[in-house]
Amino acid sequence: MARLLIIGAGGVGQVVTHKAAQASDVFTDIMLASRTKEKCDKIAKQLKRPIQTAVVDADNVPELVALIKSFKPDLVLNVALPYQDLHIMDACLETGVNYLDTANYEPLDEAKFEYKWQWAYQERFKEKGLMALLGSGFDPGVTNVFCAYAQKHHFDEIHELDIIDCNAGDHGQPFATNFNPEINIREITAKGRYWERGEWVETDPLSWSMNYKFPDGIGYKKCYLMYHEELESLVLNLKGIKRARFWMTFSDNYLNHLKVLENVGMTRIDPVDFKGQKIVPIQFLKELLPDPASLGPLTKGKTCIGCVIKGIKDGKERKYYIYNICDHEACYKEVQAQAISYTTGVPAVVGAIMMVTGKWKGTGVFNIEQLDPDPFLKTLSEYGLPWNEVFLSESK
Ligand code: NDP
Repeated sequence: MARLLIIGAGGVGQVVTHKAAQASDVFTDIMLASRTKEKCDKIAKQLKRPIQTAVVDADNVPELVALIKSFKPDLVLNVALPYQDLHIMDACLETGVNYLDTANYEPLDEAKFEYKWQWAYQERFKEKGLMALLGSGFDPGVTNVFCAYAQKHHFDEIHELDIIDCNAGDHGQPFATNFNPEINIREITAKGRYWERGEWVETDPLSWSMNYKFPDGIGYKKCYLMYHEELESLVLNLKGIKRARFWMTFSDNYLNHLKVLENVGMTRIDPVDFKGQKIVPIQFLKELLPDPASLGPLTKGKTCIGCVIKGIKDGKERKYYIYNICDHEACYKEVQAQAISYTTGVPAVVGAIMMVTGKWKGTGVFNIEQLDPDPFLKTLSEYGLPWNEVFLSESK
C-alpha cells in the first residue's frame, strides 16, 4: 500500500526497519538509507522480507532529492540525527513527500534544541499540501500522546504535568549512553528548565531531584529535573497548564562519570586544537564510548516512561498516571535492540502508519499531541508497547 523511506541506520533505525517490515500490509516497499551502507545491509539481512538499502548524506539536500525521486516514497521517516532535520524537510518539500521525525532540530555548534526552526516550515508544508509530523518517538512522542489522551478522556483542564522517564535497565558497562552519546550528553549537561505560571524557570544542570516509586516491581529511583523538548509544545497545547516538568532517572555511577568527563573538558562541543588538527571533544568521546547498539544483548531490566497529571474533571480535582513498561531483554529477542531504541522506533512506525493510512491527515507542521490520540494508542499496543493508566490518591 505505501512506500517508506527510512533515513538513519543506528539503534532506532534498526527497530524502525524491523517493525515497518513486520507491517507488510501497510508498507509494501521499504528503503533504508544512511551514511554507512554496511549498517543498512546488516539490518536488511536480519529481516524475513527483502528491502532496499542505499547510501545517503542527509546533510546534502540534492543527494536526498535524487534518492527520494528515484525511490518515490509516500513518507520519509527520519531517524538520523537532529542535525539533519531541516535538510530532510527541505528535500521533502522539494519532492512533495510527507515527513516524520523523533527529535527536534539542533544546530551542530550550539547545544540548543528548540522547535522554532521546524515550526518555521509551517506555511511551506501547508502551501505544498504536505504533512510533517514532529517528535514521534517516546519522549517526545508517546508522552505527548498520553497527555492528549488524558485531555480528551479524563480532564476538563490539566494543571500540572510531570513526565517521568525511568530506565531501570543495567548493561554492566562502567559508562555508556543508551542512545547516540553526543546527543544524549549534550541534553543532560544542559541547564534544566520547567514551565510554571506562564514562564520558563531555569535550574542548574541536574541540581533538582526527587525519589519516585515506579510500578511493576521497579520501586524507588532517583529522578533529576531536566529540560526536554516536548515541554515546549505541550505548554502551548494543554488547556489550563500551570506547571510542566520533565524528570529522568540516573544512577550515581553514571553521574560521577559524567561529572569527571565534564570537569576535564571531554563534553565540550567547541573545536579544540590537537596536534595541529581541530577536534570536538564530545565527538572524540563518542568514538571511545560503547556504541548504543552494542548494549542490546547486554541490557537487562525494564524502562518505565509515563506522565503524572493533575487537573480538574467536572469541577473535581484528580490525579492520574499513564505509563508504559518495556523489558530490555524482550526487545532484544524480538528486534535485536535494547528498550530505549525500541520505545523510540515503535512509536515512529506507529506515527508513520497513522499518516500513510490517512488516520492522521493534515497539511502543515504538527506536534504529535495535536492529532487524535485514540487510533495511535490502539496501534501502539498492537505493535509491542502496551500502556496502563491509574487514578492516584494525592499522596502518590
Ligand atoms: P545513532 O547514532 O545510533 O544512529 C544515527 C544514525 O544516523 C546512524 O546510522 C548514522 O550513520 C546516521 N547519520 C548520521 N548523520 C547522517 C548523515 N549526515 N546522513 C545520513 N545518515 C546519517 O542514533 P539513535 O538511533 O540512537 O537515534 C536516532 C534518532 O532518534 C536521533 O535523532 C535521536 O535524537 C532520536 N531519539 C529520539 C528519542 C525519543 O524518544 N523521541 C529517544 C532516543 C533517540 P553512521 O552510522 O554512519 O554514523
